[in-house]
Amino acid sequence: MPELDNIGGRDAAWREELRQSHSARQRADIPRVVMPELPADYRVKSLTEEVNQGLTQAQAMQEAVRCLDCPNPGCVGGCPVGINIPGFIKNIERGDFDSALAVLRRTSALPAVCGRVCPQEKQCESKCIYNKMGKQPVAIGYLERYAADHGQTQGQTAPQPNGKRVAVAGSGPAGLSFAGAMADRGYDVTVFEALHEIGGVLKYGIPEFRLPNSVVEREIDALRARGVKFEKDTIVGSTLRPEDIAAMHFDGLFVASGAGLPRFMNIPGENLINVMSSNEYLTRVNLMHAGTPGYATPVYRGKRVAIIGGGNTAMDSCRTARRMGAEEVMVIYRRSEAEMPARLEEVKHAKEEGIRFLTLHNPVEYLGDEQGRVRAMRLQQMQLGEPDASGRRSPVEIPDAIVEVEVDMVIVSVGVSPNPLIPNAFEGLEVTSRGTIAASADTLETSLSGMYAGGDIVRGGATVILAMGDGRHAAQAMHQALSNPNN
Ligand code: FAD
Ligand code: SF4
Repeated sequence: MPELDNIGGRDAAWREELRQSHSARQRADIPRVVMPELPADYRVKSLTEEVNQGLTQAQAMQEAVRCLDCPNPGCVGGCPVGINIPGFIKNIERGDFDSALAVLRRTSALPAVCGRVCPQEKQCESKCIYNKMGKQPVAIGYLERYAADHGQTQGQTAPQPNGKRVAVAGSGPAGLSFAGAMADRGYDVTVFEALHEIGGVLKYGIPEFRLPNSVVEREIDALRARGVKFEKDTIVGSTLRPEDIAAMHFDGLFVASGAGLPRFMNIPGENLINVMSSNEYLTRVNLMHAGTPGYATPVYRGKRVAIIGGGNTAMDSCRTARRMGAEEVMVIYRRSEAEMPARLEEVKHAKEEGIRFLTLHNPVEYLGDEQGRVRAMRLQQMQLGEPDASGRRSPVEIPDAIVEVEVDMVIVSVGVSPNPLIPNAFEGLEVTSRGTIAASADTLETSLSGMYAGGDIVRGGATVILAMGDGRHAAQAMHQALSNPNN
């Protein structure tokens, strides 16, 4: 297995010692750890207190014992960036949390974030050998979070500046991970961010009760300490035009502007008052603190709120609406729960918080009152048909099966599209039919020389770990190109 034996200065002997400390049978008999969490009736009153409280040291070390240190660990293949999972877990087993974090940091710029928000059940944990044994997989995400929260990064010596300057458009996971990877190679890095806060979706989308801002801030501070500069309130392509960027003589530009444009269903009544996108709703509450005493940002506090969609954004919106005082919150999803794209843990938490799931229903119209405010929605009842292109069973309408449900607020959470601003501003930049920036699969370079792109602006709405992986990938490719003396 690559890179495992010398982690923390240890050799194969300590792995053997660990192996002998428990038989495989003993390890497999230990039940999976349960994450300590705040009780549902308490947590629905707080927008900021994190629901998952994190493992104790004893729990983390016990869970680490469960990992069988397989010779060909499937979990590594299940992680989109190929983290050396047994490597970091075995360091937790022996109580060396700094080395565990060092292993994580070799491949992941944001382990404290990924440990909290990755869809582990579809990625690393889905490939754990325990699944084949009819047992619950090792809690890889919980352990990643533990190592990231409790390990200390060893003081890094600042790399020698290499005299080259690069720019980044967008400060979400893709931009941050690119910035870190380039700073570590000696580049002078400037990140331009359109908003007044750094972090992208990690700040404006995912609520604090799931991912505290302090966790994101810690990572941003670490980048600042490595010399990365951040320019907020700067919109590349608008307040900073392509000619302005050209005049700054950067050696390369990485575009990581995400997919922040909300999609709607284009059904009658979507323009009624109190029908809004989840982007708008979550941005008001998370980024602009609507609902927090002392902040003036307005937001409607619905009493009977419907959330349309079944992804993570829908779960974040319904749980936020509950915390904003809604008495009844319904998730309306056109397929069944088995096809929902949201992380399993978010669905579980939403249910515990009293959210009602109306699956196999799809809105066809919203109805308004005399003031133009939404008062009800008409839902088409569905059944499952054959699998579609996504591999999930498709939703098929049941003829004449329409129900009307009263609501006073609707939050539409049916996906996002890439923001067209940068694609439109840079002449000659190729885009795909979906409006995403076209980038080479090998290097992530775009049709414009020296401009690279990654994350949601290339993939459409995807995940944190994929965006972060793109940032590292683009950094590697740009560095290679800039180091080539023939360029
Ligand atoms: P973003 O995070 O969108 O960041 C892009 C940044 O670029 C933003 O800060 C934006 O303001 C800035 N920007 C845009 N245009 C410009 C410009 N012209 N100039 C300068 N700056 C610009 N993924 C998971 O893995 N797990 C989850 O649990 C999860 N939950 C989610 C919940 C919500 C509510 C949302 C919306 C998404 C969620 N995702 C989740 C998806 C994940 O957050 C995204 O895939 C990821 O953030 C994409 O990263 P990015 O860096 O490409 O873009
Ligand atoms: Fe699993 Fe995500 Fe961590 Fe990879 S980054 S090991 S997929 S939790």
